[in-house]
Amino acid sequence: MTSPVLPGSIIGILGSGQLGRMIAIAARRMGYRIHTLSPESDSPTGHVADREVVAAYDDIEAVKRFAEDVDIITLEFENISADCVDAALLITPVRPKGSVLHTTQNRLREKTFLAEHGFPVAPFRHVKSSEELAAAVEEISTPAVLKTAGFGYDGKGQVKIETADDVADAWASMAGQEAVLEAFIDFELELSVVAVRGLDGDFVHYGTVENQHSRHILDITTAPADVSGAVNVTAVNLTRKVFEALDVVGVACVEYFLDREENLIINEIAPRVHNSGHFTFDACVTSQFEQQVRAVCGLPLGSTDQPRPAAMANLLGDLWENGEPDWATALAIPEVKLHLYGKQEARPGRKMGHLTAMADTREQAVERVVEARRGLVKR
Ligand code: AMP
Repeated sequence: MTSPVLPGSIIGILGSGQLGRMIAIAARRMGYRIHTLSPESDSPTGHVADREVVAAYDDIEAVKRFAEDVDIITLEFENISADCVDAALLITPVRPKGSVLHTTQNRLREKTFLAEHGFPVAPFRHVKSSEELAAAVEEISTPAVLKTAGFGYDGKGQVKIETADDVADAWASMAGQEAVLEAFIDFELELSVVAVRGLDGDFVHYGTVENQHSRHILDITTAPADVSGAVNVTAVNLTRKVFEALDVVGVACVEYFLDREENLIINEIAPRVHNSGHFTFDACVTSQFEQQVRAVCGLPLGSTDQPRPAAMANLLGDLWENGEPDWATALAIPEVKLHLYGKQEARPGRKMGHLTAMADTREQAVERVVEARRGLVKR
């Protein structure tokens, strides 16, 4: 039995964005110290860390020095190379393990893994040339979505194919990268399950939540989702099986499409705390961030109880277009909480923070959070 990494120890976080910042806040509250490593300085995680190491993820010597100074390593960013994880692992435990990252950081590997393990995914084909794309479009039929196999998030690196005439342009937009063509799902809802698995295999979850996207970026999460009990149970069971198949330790999120016949289809897996779990910071007994700390440190997992419905709205850099948003107006609405990530430059589409609202019903929670966000815009 591995002994737990106890409070007072140093947790190293690979990545230094808002996810690391919120893990660090939860960890510090429990008495841990935090080191963070990323190529950025003055970072969201660095602001609340004991030490901010600025180095490239593939700077193996820097990663080894980082590993020597900490008791355990976790991450907030899944696109860390296997070499980097392997170098760190020779010195200190890394959770989740490198194979989880390897599978989930590439859409083709992820979808192949899911399909081989019998999980429901949209029909897909691996394409390496314009000819293969034309053949795949023929097989899968249109509409379909072409996505780069490698690094991509928030809809980056993907293009919809409406008819076979779109093939040439779609392939050109991949700029020679390997790609995956998948059937377009005419979904009713986008859902996700954020869950956590401990070192001993214990599993807890936050139930099924509903996600609305705008410009391919998460806009609003509503918890719980307005789905039948059967859909919720199926989504949670699928999530548990995905965690077991991957042998995840820590928090991860499985994103789903719910089609018009109430079938769940897995879109993707994020092997880390997730934007659709941010509401847990204010709405649940134990947040996803604290669970990450507990799980990777080998401690018992906390209660995921959520006393009241909640909704989360992302705050993108666009809100700063006319100057500093009107925080006071938003915060005057009852049960609204503000989270800002400390980013200096508010670029359009950049995640700068989020609002969470709790209420008696899910509809009221959404109304409150949307009203609060509307109040931020100066007139
Ligand atoms: P992704 O980067 O794969 O998570 O995709 C970002 C968003 O694009 C998703 O949240 C969906 O709104 C949309 N999308 C991606 N793949 C599909 C698909 N196969 N069918 C329909 N919509 C999709």
